[in-house]
Amino acid sequence: MKRAARIQRNAGALRHNLSRARALAPEKRVWAVIKADAYGHGIEWAAAQLDGFADGFAISCIEEALVLRCAGVTAPILVLQGPREASEWEVCRSHALQPVLHDEAQLPGLARFRGVLPGLWIKLDTGMHRLGFAPLKAQILLEQVQRHPAARNGLHWLTHLACADQPGHPQNRVQLDQFASAVSELPGQQSFANSAAVVSGLAAAAPRGAWIRPGIMLYGPSPLLGEDGPERDLRPVMTVTAPLIAVKNLEPGAHVGYGATWTATRPTRVGVVAIGYADGYPRHAPSGTPVLVHGRECPLVGRVSMDMLEVDLSGVPDARVGDWVTLWGEGLPVERVARSAGTIGYELLTRVAGRLQIVEP
Ligand SMILES: *Cc1c(COP(=O)(O)O)cnc(C)c1O
Repeated sequence: MKRAARIQRNAGALRHNLSRARALAPEKRVWAVIKADAYGHGIEWAAAQLDGFADGFAISCIEEALVLRCAGVTAPILVLQGPREASEWEVCRSHALQPVLHDEAQLPGLARFRGVLPGLWIKLDTGMHRLGFAPLKAQILLEQVQRHPAARNGLHWLTHLACADQPGHPQNRVQLDQFASAVSELPGQQSFANSAAVVSGLAAAAPRGAWIRPGIMLYGPSPLLGEDGPERDLRPVMTVTAPLIAVKNLEPGAHVGYGATWTATRPTRVGVVAIGYADGYPRHAPSGTPVLVHGRECPLVGRVSMDMLEVDLSGVPDARVGDWVTLWGEGLPVERVARSAGTIGYELLTRVAGRLQIVEP
């Protein structure tokens, strides 16, 4: 069952944002990160739009990789969370996937596997303390794995930065120094840069031919804290719209919504929009969160309901029932809404799909 509320996806914006990543990190190769259903935009759609533009696709898990291969995607695929079960090494071989080795627990499965892979990546934990081996183990791992058939086509190195969204954070330098001292003398390709490292310029310093891993910036939001994508010439790919289904005039003193948390202080025209938290709009968005009506920002009023929210239409006297309003996207960066709701654009984008209709512009 689909709702009237809609998601529009802009393929030109997606490709434009990829070209921004290339411009910010010249002479690098690009793993376009399309995990989590391409951050809510549809993994098959995103892969089709970026085919021939990205050098390969990065996804979280083997299940997502199989969706891509079943859709006929032939580009290189990096599986960020490598095999959990021993049998998954064979799946990587048969579907030409490049898995990440990031934990001791994967080594017995790898030892039993004798297949050849298109590439094998080793993740080093340089300070995020999520996935990866201690950088001091790089040399030992190299010796252990380099003669394995899985590494015949290349053994490569990656790490992930914890604070790249704050370019001045001292941990960035610490992590990059750790990574460089572990792998700069070793054979293989390198990769450390997510979107924030690309936009902030950290990625530009990576060796020529290194791989960048932009995710969020491909979809339009700025990855840097407190900024909006358009400030970096990034364009929103997803626009979420929903219809006004009622308009009413409130007297001063009238309350709006559950808990009566918002009160009119003057005669106020209020509109009801047919989208709510069950559709993925954040329930924590407080009164004042912007909603775009006829291209003007109007403040959300009262609590977001399951299938509806209300908006103060004082700024747009000609708004009528049946008009479509924009919750985020073209004209209203999702990170504005996210900041207001105390979250990040990533969360809003990945949560909204499912119940809404996807329409092509
Ligand atoms: C998700 C992810 C990325 C992309 O991150 P963005 O902040 O969306 O650019 C890159 N590398 C790894 C390991 C990831 O998990």
